[in-house]
Amino acid sequence: MRRLAAETAVIGGGAAGTFAALELHRRGVKPLILCKGLVGKSGASIFAGNLVVPGRLLGNTAEQARDTAEFLIRMHNHFLIDQHYARAAGEWIEREYYPELERAGLYLRRDDRGEIVTNDGPVRCMAAHSQGESGVLFMDLRRKQVLKAGIPWLEETAATALLTDADGAIAGVMALDLARGEVVAIATRAVILATGYADRFYPRSTATREMSADGIAMAWRAGAELMNLEIQWWHTSDVRFPLCWQRTQIYPNPIIGSSHSARLYNSDGEVFFDQEADAPTAMGPYTLQLKRLAKQVLAGKARFDGGYYSSFTHIAPNTVSAYTDYAKAFTALGKSIATDTLETACSAHYRQGGIVVDPARMATRVPGLYVAGGVGGHSNGLIAPVTYDGMLAAETVAGDLPRLKPAALPEDKAAAEEARLQALRRSLPGNGVTPAHVKKALRALMSEKMGFFKNAAGMEEALAEVTRLRDELMPAMGLANVTPRLNYAWLDAIDVTNLLEVAALTIRAALNRTESRGPFYRTDFPETDNERWLVKNILTPTANGDPNFRTEPYELPFLKPDFPRRESLEVDW
Ligand SMILES: Cc1cc2nc3c(=O)[nH]c(=O)nc-3n(C[C@H](O)[C@H](O)[C@H](O)COP(=O)(O)OP(=O)(O)OC[C@H]3O[C@@H](n4cnc5c(N)ncnc54)[C@H](O)[C@@H]3O)c2cc1C
Repeated sequence: MRRLAAETAVIGGGAAGTFAALELHRRGVKPLILCKGLVGKSGASIFAGNLVVPGRLLGNTAEQARDTAEFLIRMHNHFLIDQHYARAAGEWIEREYYPELERAGLYLRRDDRGEIVTNDGPVRCMAAHSQGESGVLFMDLRRKQVLKAGIPWLEETAATALLTDADGAIAGVMALDLARGEVVAIATRAVILATGYADRFYPRSTATREMSADGIAMAWRAGAELMNLEIQWWHTSDVRFPLCWQRTQIYPNPIIGSSHSARLYNSDGEVFFDQEADAPTAMGPYTLQLKRLAKQVLAGKARFDGGYYSSFTHIAPNTVSAYTDYAKAFTALGKSIATDTLETACSAHYRQGGIVVDPARMATRVPGLYVAGGVGGHSNGLIAPVTYDGMLAAETVAGDLPRLKPAALPEDKAAAEEARLQALRRSLPGNGVTPAHVKKALRALMSEKMGFFKNAAGMEEALAEVTRLRDELMPAMGLANVTPRLNYAWLDAIDVTNLLEVAALTIRAALNRTESRGPFYRTDFPETDNERWLVKNILTPTANGDPNFRTEPYELPFLKPDFPRRESLEVDW
């Protein structure tokens, strides 16, 4: 076991983690980044296509500023967000975030007059170089900034456990350095967890390989509370074939330089979603798209896994090509954006909920454990708000560090975690199964029982099946090759433990929320119920690992829903 020490461990190398590390460094705290993939090249951040223009930035009118805030609270978070946090994040993004990016050299796309190009409309966005590609350029920049600052990192190193001391405070992190095949123990008294929220629970998913709910599982085992895990988002218009393109999206967002966007057609060729007309106050109208698709599914004119189509045929091709990379998918498949449609299907996108944090500080109830970005339950993310989280978490850690106890690695817990990890690297027994087999079985199950249409009976069956996978398949799990170095099957085995645990918690959370809201739909409780369920659905860990449930209302100081209860498919968010 390799031993290290860090003033603060930052777990995750996406938008939230990299900025948290940069801010700690700027404030004189020495961070160590642990990243399961490569820093700036793993997780959801590289996929961000659009950058929202908040507040009065770039000449936004007062009305556009209001619409943008409303988009974030109503359409993007279904009112499950602290509105004071939303306001503070918006102000920081307008004041600090974009100016910092431009100073650091991110090229925001400009027209021939040198003006930054945005779409027309109530909620505007811009792009780094090209709409659809922003995240890659943005994260390349963050990687360079981290390198330049000399911040140490362990890449392709998965954190596997948060260690706590006798008082329940953070005392260390355990990790697996995949390249060396070595277990690492890091003594630290502060952790910023930034492991993201797009996890691979479904065969079609926007998550990358390394996203397996590790942050949620680690925080839960360390005693943190979780909330709103059941609110799973979906991409409705992702290219259906080939399967490896499952997250290649025909964006429903307005095209920059215009007010146009793609349309969706059912199997009879009828338009069933047109963002310009159906959701003008939406930078990303994902939930409304999904609800319109659900109606087509009920009418037998589409399926969630295909049989409907997306295209730009109603828009001049040069409008699409001027500032976006949207033609790429069409061209690669030998199609034309001028004349062709592409078959689309739903992919699981990201989880709205996550770890319970105080959104004014990004602290959890576990002393020394802080959260930034998508893994938190406080907000549904977006590249700029998760960066704000990174800044806020770093600010809080820098202030708290003098009060936190010196780090002393709890040796017994470190040894137990090393033993757990080594036990997962065992040979495939006769009649055994590989971790990849268990992952596939879980994804098939989630797809069948935990898609958009759900009910209590199906979810109870799903829970029983997840329990069976845990109790019967996991003990039979083994690896075809037990070499320690670069053994992705070993990593799969570690992932499986987290995925099964968080799948069970998610299903329980879904059973507990007896309403439908945003992208969360129960056929047995089809109404959005603002009287009873405009609340945090909170899971608290008990001694045997099962959750206790409680709810907590949201304050609604700036924006309230305008109905008490309504059939969710008729609600436009
Ligand atoms: C397909 C897609 C399109 C999007 N489009 C937009 C958009 O147009 N505009 C916008 O603003 N936002 C968009 N978003 C949302 C935005 O990308 C996210 O809100 C944001 O990137 C989340 O950042 P994060 O740092 O919290 O997580 P991530 O970027 O997911 O980073 C998580 C990091 O944690 C690491 N990690 C995971 N597990 C471990 C572990 N056990 N140990 C160590 N490291 C670990 C990963 O390797 C990764 O580096 C999109 C997201 C997706 C998925």
